[in-house]
Order: sequence, then structure tokens, then C-alpha cells
Amino acid sequence: MIPNIYYHRRRGDLGVLAEVELSQPRVAETVELLQALIRNRCVNTGERSAGHEVRNADVLAQFLGSTVDTQVYDAAPGRRSLVARIEGSDPAAPSLGLLAHTDVVPADDQDWLRDPFGGELVDGAVWGRGAIDMLNMTACMAAAMRTLGATGFRPRGDIVFVAAADEEARAEFGARYLLERHRDDVLTDYVLTEGGGWPLTAGPRPKLSWATADKGTAWLRLRVRGRAGHAAMPYGADNALVKAAEVVRRLHTHRVSPVISDVWRGWVAGMGFDAEVAAGLLDERSVLSVAREQTGDVAAAAHACTHLTITPTMARGGVAINAIPECVEIDVDARTLPGQTRGEVASEIRNALGELDPEVTIEWLHELSTTQSPLSTPVFDTVKDVTRAIVPGTELVPSLITASTDAEYFRRHGAKAYGFSITTDYVSPTEFAAMFHGPNERIDVRSLALSTTLWERLARSF
Ligand SMILES: [Zn+2]
Repeated sequence: MIPNIYYHRRRGDLGVLAEVELSQPRVAETVELLQALIRNRCVNTGERSAGHEVRNADVLAQFLGSTVDTQVYDAAPGRRSLVARIEGSDPAAPSLGLLAHTDVVPADDQDWLRDPFGGELVDGAVWGRGAIDMLNMTACMAAAMRTLGATGFRPRGDIVFVAAADEEARAEFGARYLLERHRDDVLTDYVLTEGGGWPLTAGPRPKLSWATADKGTAWLRLRVRGRAGHAAMPYGADNALVKAAEVVRRLHTHRVSPVISDVWRGWVAGMGFDAEVAAGLLDERSVLSVAREQTGDVAAAAHACTHLTITPTMARGGVAINAIPECVEIDVDARTLPGQTRGEVASEIRNALGELDPEVTIEWLHELSTTQSPLSTPVFDTVKDVTRAIVPGTELVPSLITASTDAEYFRRHGAKAYGFSITTDYVSPTEFAAMFHGPNERIDVRSLALSTTLWERLARSF
């Protein structure tokens, strides 16, 4: 996943406001666990044989030991997920899920200042692929579960920790497999996972994002047809590559109309902007121009949160350097807003193509509609109270995740799922955004300590 929306004015407020004892043995254990998870290199390239999440599942099983009941599930060789449960005392009480994933996206060493799989602790931060997406949360949730289990805590409703494989591809060997084959073992009434808890600052009080919705995904393959011929006689040729270049240009420059959704309204209201700025951000005609005037990365976030986006990402075609290509394929990543359909994606692409439309066919590779959970639920109130006890005065701001997470599969099975954690403003928002699937991914130890405390206290208060 990639970050959702945030706005930032000053650095360091959250870290200073929060009271956290970094010398606790539990903090060191969480750091060591995160380092081990990073060093296991559970890199998910999307192939069946990738991931090797068995390594991280086994590290977690060893870490949890006999403090809680654990079970592992192998969706395919090497694709292991782990589930840990603390049984509640009241079968009628709502259950709470802590949903993590154990895989990471690839990392190119050349772009990094540190070894992406070294898990080094440098100046109060743990470096490595997965440090913010989301092995950090996996480690914090596991540490909280171990403490809860070791102290003999008995919740009212079940508390279930799910460390799923294969989140970074299509969840075929992770969340989807678990929900289809072992639904009762993993499904809870409420689910908390990645995608939220990032510091937002517009006004005097600290604000953290509370992710209530994921954008939908549509992956498409466009095929542009031409006529094969000898490259030495190009005059009058119908060259599919030349046409494809024009198709890509049109997709890139096509302007889609903005949509002001409920979750966008909630974000703007929650951020506490000046009335004039808020009004501008809620008006289709001015949302982008007003967003551009704000500090931080508001414009990119505002664009993604108010638009169906259509992004060409891969192209392939041609058979020889001296042959005019007959066919070129362009892969496109489109992301939909709540309520938008396949028909709307197709018609935006047709509009973009214009008179080239008859020369292009569309194949749908993968499609997921948006999912969202209601803003105000009992878990929201509890999370808010617990967070305020840790970081006084914090507001939770409803947010839309512009990519997708495993939350959407759990929502499809009836859970109310949210993205949250506590992350300090240890780097600038621009740096933070660039770390998702990017180089130099790292997390400060203070955030790890705060989030571990959050999960433990939440379980005790739920
Ligand atoms: Zn993730």
C-alpha cells in the first residue's frame, strides 16, 4: 500500500507530546523482532514461489511461544500465515482483530543508504524494507499479544492477531485464502490494520489519520494494433508502437472530473482548516487549486482522494529491431472512488483515447471495488480514548487509503476494518511518502514503543 492523505506543519510534536519509556525491555524486544522480520527477506514479487513468508511466520511463532494459542496455515509451499488468539470470556462480546502482513516488496540496494535487509538500528530508527510497510506494525502487534498472553489477560471478546502472507500481491496465498478456507479462525467483528495513524497537522492539536476506506483497483491491459512490416520501409506504415505512444500520452493528459466523497468531506472537516480553505477543498472547481496552496503534499493526496486515476505503468511490444510491430500492450493501473464502476473506468479510457478508441482493445486483468467502514463505531471511540491517554489531545481524522490493503477482504466478509497505529513525525511528510515501496525505509523506535502500547491498551479497553 501507499500512504493516504496527510498535512503537516511542524515536526516533532507527537514525539514530544507522547510519554514513552524507551528503555523498557519490551521496546528492545519489539526492535529485535522487527530486525529479525526485515532480515528474513520475505520479498513478494507476485509469483507463487516468491514471498517465503514461512520464515517470518516461524519467527513470530517462536517469539509468541506459549503465551497465546497460535496456529499456522500454508496456502502453498512457503506461503505460511500465522494466527494467534486470546479467547474472550463472553462469546456474545464483539471480537477484535489485529491484522498484519509478513511480506514486503522488493528493494534495489543501489538506491539505499543502508542494507535494505540489514535491519540496522541507526540513530533511534530501524532501517530496512518493511520498516513502515508493515513489519513495524506486525512486530508491535505481536509484542502486545505476547504481553497480554503472558500476563494472563482475559478479554471480553476474542482478540485475534493475523499475520498474513501475500498482501503485497493479490492476497491469494494470504488474506483471501484465510477468509475463504478458515473464515471462523480469522474473521472478527472489528479489524485494525495498516494505512492509518500518520501524523497530520493543521491546527494546534495533534492529528492522526483514521483510515475508513480503500480506493478500488482496476488493472487493465490495452492492446494497440497496427500492421507488421519491414522497418527499412516505414513510409505510410501502421506502426503499433507509434500509436501506443500517443495512447500513453492521451491517458496521461486526460482530465477526469473530481468527485467530492463523504470520506473526503470527513477528512477536510477533521483537519480543522480555515473556513475558506475548507470550502475551497469541498468544491469540485477549486479543490486542486486550493490544495496546491497548502503546505506539505496536500495536492497529490487531494488529487488521488477526489479522482478516478488512470496510470499507464508497463508497455511491451515488437519482435525484432528491424520489424514494424503489429501489436503493443500497455498495462494500466486505475483506482476508483467509492461508488465508481467498471463502466466509468472504461468510459474515461474511451474519452481519453478519442478517435483512437476503435484501434485499442481492453482486457480486464484484476478488479476490486472500493470498500469502506462506518466512521463512528464503538472501536473508534475506544481507539480515540486510548490514543489520547498516550498522546494527549490527539484527534482522529477520517481518511481514504488511495491504494488497497487486506482490510478490503475483511470488509467483504462483514468486518468493520480500519487503518490505524501511532506514528510520530520523525521524518517530513514528503520523506515518509517516499519510503512506501521506496528506498531508505525506516521507523523510529519511539513509534514502535507508542504503537505497542496502543495495541496492548486497546485490547484491555475493548
Ligand atoms: Zn502494507
